[in-house]
Amino acid sequence: MKPRILIIGGGYGGLRTAMTLQQHLHQQAEVTLISKHDYHYQTTLLHKVAIGTLSARKSRIYFRKILDLTKVQFIKDKIIEIKPDSKQVIGNGGVYEYDYLVIGLGFKPEGFGIKGVEEHAHKLSSLNAALKLDKAIEYKFKEYCHTKNQQDLSIIVCGTGFTGIEFAAELGSRLDELCLIGGIPRDIPKITCIGRSDRILPMFSKKSSAIAQKKLESFGVEVICGGDVQEVKTDGVVIRKDGELKEIKGNTILWSAGVRGSDIVEKSPLENTKGRVKVDAYLRSPQYENIYVVGDCALCTSRDAIHAPTAQLSAQMGDYVGKSLLKILDGKEQKEPFKFVHRGTVCSIGHTDGVGIIYKQSINGEFAAFLKNFIENKWLYGIGGAKLVFKNGQFRYRTSN
Ligand SMILES: Cc1cc2nc3c(=O)[nH]c(=O)nc-3n(C[C@H](O)[C@H](O)[C@H](O)COP(=O)(O)OP(=O)(O)OC[C@H]3O[C@@H](n4cnc5c(N)ncnc54)[C@H](O)[C@@H]3O)c2cc1C
Repeated sequence: MKPRILIIGGGYGGLRTAMTLQQHLHQQAEVTLISKHDYHYQTTLLHKVAIGTLSARKSRIYFRKILDLTKVQFIKDKIIEIKPDSKQVIGNGGVYEYDYLVIGLGFKPEGFGIKGVEEHAHKLSSLNAALKLDKAIEYKFKEYCHTKNQQDLSIIVCGTGFTGIEFAAELGSRLDELCLIGGIPRDIPKITCIGRSDRILPMFSKKSSAIAQKKLESFGVEVICGGDVQEVKTDGVVIRKDGELKEIKGNTILWSAGVRGSDIVEKSPLENTKGRVKVDAYLRSPQYENIYVVGDCALCTSRDAIHAPTAQLSAQMGDYVGKSLLKILDGKEQKEPFKFVHRGTVCSIGHTDGVGIIYKQSINGEFAAFLKNFIENKWLYGIGGAKLVFKNGQFRYRTSN
């Protein structure tokens, strides 16, 4: 019998593993990718979907269109349990057996137990969640002429990291158009971005943070740093700032203040911290040599520093695991430990602006926006070639409308 390789989760990590395997495999193994949707989506673009600047049609990349189905089988199913001792994974649609398992189930929003986050806040955790947020915002803007409820046009973003800032900026840059369409005075909609740290985007230099904040403010976004969210309600959030409690009103709230690993991993027998497995140097579970973990479900360290979970890291992990499995199938051993090459990170500030670090150099402005699109398109090229880039790619100033 051929060895069975099972990949669960078709995000940056899982899909990259499948792609690497299919590129070099000559029927030495049975490879199966299972994911809960029959499409891949670029998580890094969910903020655009949530604002409607990227359409649902363009966001869905169907697995069966990009996989070579003679080499990688695809099954649409939601995984509900991992059973490492019997080498089985349980899905809603059946039981799947494996010899090698690659876990790439991604992340879940982290609410830190704060009251109301679960019930009242939107999260950018999947394509469907982003579409839901888009509908909620669009509906409130369209109905304003009847409701005249100013709070409906107040959007609160909790979190001043990547996700929160990209979302606030994308929305801010679209407000002129939304107001024009709805005949709404421009000074009525409000976007408030609240973060715990003393500046936005703390992963970048102080100068880049200041540039990003200035640009956000030019869109009319109010930035509150050093604000600790205490409670999320249906119509606003309570924060503690400088020792005082303050309520900020708004009927649409996005929670983007943190992520954790997968809940399926969390309740599995794999040792984990909040759904993330601390992998060994070869990205394997320390308990089970035949289980690899990639992407946001993995806690990966080098010289005791934990790598922040990113798409870039996930893709490199997927690539590495694919290559390791190919070696094993050839009867060889993977002797090279995983090494993350941090090429840089770019945060978009609307369509035509951004800040970031590329090869340790700070960048901003249109060049950063161009690089952001380049990074997204590079990913598309890697999974579907030039055809996919032309069909689904990000180009400057282009929106789905
Ligand atoms: C709005 C936003 C913006 C971001 N921007 C950037 C950025 O600019 N740069 C960057 O590097 N990183 C960015 N990130 C982080 C980055 O997107 C993640 O680190 C990356 O997506 C993790 O990849 P992954 O393969 O682990 O998981 P994901 O890409 O999230 O994929 C997980 C996959 O598992 C599937 N799945 C989940 N649960 C199940 C289940 N139970 N059964 C079956 N399938 C399941 C999902 O459908 C999905 O296909 C951003 C994240 C967000 C939310």
